[in-house]
Amino acid sequence: MKTSLFAVDPEKFTDRDLDTAAKIIRSGGLVVFPTETVYGIGGDATNSRSAERIYAAKGRPSDNPLIIHVADPADAEPYAVTCPLYYRLAKHFMPGPLTVIMPKKDTIPLTVTGGLDSVAVRCPSHPIANALIRLSGVPIAAPSANISGRPSATCAAHALHDFDGRVDAIIDGGESRFGMESTIVKITGEDSLILLRPGAVTFDALCCVCSDVTVSETVTRMLREDERPICPGMKYRHYAPEKPLALVGGDPDERLRFFRQKQQEGNCIIICYDEQVRFLSPDGIINIGSAADPERQGHLLFSALRLSDELPGDAVYANLPDTEGLGLALYNRLIRAAAHTVIYPRRDPSVN
Ligand code: AMP
Ligand code: MG
Repeated sequence: MKTSLFAVDPEKFTDRDLDTAAKIIRSGGLVVFPTETVYGIGGDATNSRSAERIYAAKGRPSDNPLIIHVADPADAEPYAVTCPLYYRLAKHFMPGPLTVIMPKKDTIPLTVTGGLDSVAVRCPSHPIANALIRLSGVPIAAPSANISGRPSATCAAHALHDFDGRVDAIIDGGESRFGMESTIVKITGEDSLILLRPGAVTFDALCCVCSDVTVSETVTRMLREDERPICPGMKYRHYAPEKPLALVGGDPDERLRFFRQKQQEGNCIIICYDEQVRFLSPDGIINIGSAADPERQGHLLFSALRLSDELPGDAVYANLPDTEGLGLALYNRLIRAAAHTVIYPRRDPSVN
């Protein structure tokens, strides 16, 4: 399959610029498009054939459901059994980086929801994503535009790397603002939610709108072999570079000492903070911004993981984020990318 590449300026484009892409979606094809979280690989969410093509293009297991994207929160009505809490969440966070899981209606094929009787709904704020959905006239099923298990794509070049020849078109609309996938919540009662995947809409922000927010244990811990998580995607290895990644926690001085020691031993890559750069040798470091700036870290995280595969080196080390605010989303992605490998270096007291 030949993949067409369209460059579209998110600041100034007209509906005509998205005509061809919308036609492809309507006729059952696949289009990679930018959103404010990460790039998505989209198809008609009411067409099970489109969903099958998405699973095949990504190499994604078909029991891992797709999020459906609508242009306006109220457009979820024909597809999901909505409730007042959904509209409260929509008022605060939509369009934006929040996905809400509700019972599904028959208009959405079970292929899209991986056989589940619920459906995940998101309304993206990115102008290109929003216009593409509106022009297609159907909700767009769109998982992150990465080959299953790999770091999500946050720019068209990454999507092209993974999907050239596997999709009909790719829309290049620049870098994704947040760089991490949406926050996912499931509505569990009139005023209760369970947080299944942390993202730019934080736990604290959700608590301002809903009085009972529970964080699913699977956000931070490893799944047992026989466990069936509420969010099927949690059971798969995710976001991972090809090289082994380990996270380094504990005291900041000990972390630095550990990174320096690994650099002396050679052949490694360190994903570090601004503040650590001047203490490290410049070879093989990838700076993801200040330790105090989790937004910037989120923006750069997946490109850093992709870059670590391209630089020379056999092993990758990164700081273990704390779990406050946006840190929880960074922690959740990195801990999966590292397959839960965490090192807490201790200084050997016999060494000065
Ligand atoms: P991605 O599309 O790659 O951002 O991943 C979407 C995530 O949403 C996956 O982890 C899915 O398992 C999860 N998801 C989508 N729909 C549902 C649903 N109906 N119930 C639970 N989790 C869902
Ligand atoms: Mg994904």
